[in-house]
Amino acid sequence: MKIDAIILRELHLPLVRPFETSFGVTRNRRIVLAEVRSEGLTGWGECTAGEHPYFSPESTESAWQVIVHELGPLLAASTPEHGGDCPKIFRLVRGNRMAKATLENAIWDIEAQREGISLSRLLGGVRDTIACGVSLGIHATIPELMETVERELAAGYQRIKLKCKPGWDIEVFEKVRSRWPGIMLSCDANSAYKLRDADHLVEFDAFDLLMIEQPLWHDDFYYHSMLQKRLETPICLDESIRNRRDALAAIEMESCKIINIKLGRVGGFSEAIAVHNAAQERAIPVWCGGMLEAGIGRAHNIALSTLENFTLHEDIVEPEIAVSSAGEIAIPDTPGRGYEVKTELVERLTVRKEEIRALELVG
Ligand code: MG
Repeated sequence: MKIDAIILRELHLPLVRPFETSFGVTRNRRIVLAEVRSEGLTGWGECTAGEHPYFSPESTESAWQVIVHELGPLLAASTPEHGGDCPKIFRLVRGNRMAKATLENAIWDIEAQREGISLSRLLGGVRDTIACGVSLGIHATIPELMETVERELAAGYQRIKLKCKPGWDIEVFEKVRSRWPGIMLSCDANSAYKLRDADHLVEFDAFDLLMIEQPLWHDDFYYHSMLQKRLETPICLDESIRNRRDALAAIEMESCKIINIKLGRVGGFSEAIAVHNAAQERAIPVWCGGMLEAGIGRAHNIALSTLENFTLHEDIVEPEIAVSSAGEIAIPDTPGRGYEVKTELVERLTVRKEEIRALELVG
């Protein structure tokens, strides 16, 4: 496919409710969107980098720079046939996976439209609906959290994940578990603990958690493997899995029993599928975590499998992504990503815009 234009935009979206993790509080999202035009088709990609380089070394600003100056020019000067050709096109650029995924996922979207099939089908998806969990941030008080849990369960979410950190863990789990003994409950520490906290983490086993996500360092497998030996609760790795090789190493070392696959963190659909397959072959379940994405990123997450967050005030795609009272999201079967982009709204929310052309780049 010939790349006719790559248009990069930054949008500002306020969250309906602030979201607090062990990194801090997010109130507004700076969303970078890539619109790629090719032979009459338009594909969209969304960057999942945070405003600050806290979750990963990438940020909104670094991704913008890398796309404008490195990845955009490389893509504009190439003729990919498939979304899966992108890792090769971007191979000289190290890391910067969230920036890479922004463009790669737009090419997958175009490919699905060209083939006249849904993105889900192009990826090899087999489900018509996906079960959907919700991730709840750290709250000011436990009673406030209890209210939120109640609301999300009533909305149909089937799995509740609680962000945790030292001082916001055991007591919280005790309260939630005693009120809702039967719900699927897990927690995510985003690397808030050290191995010296192992005795404390062992106490988490009392709450029948589905998983404890990334308790230790963001780049570690070894200490997680030592911790997993002491825990009944399965460890799920998120931050430390950047690609298929990481997944294989973590599985082999028994550092985790579950893997959270995030499209941006692994660099796009190609690597996400590779991680998925590697885990599946070794009987390690995976799930797809959200990153406070807007509609395009969520449409892509849905195509990959699941949606986690549902916190943005006004979304930029239609139909609105709806969670049923059974906590499921129906998978669209229209060609491409399955959700139309509200271009007028996108323009209105845009705070900066840059068009990347092949001609500017080659010289
Ligand atoms: Mg996580």
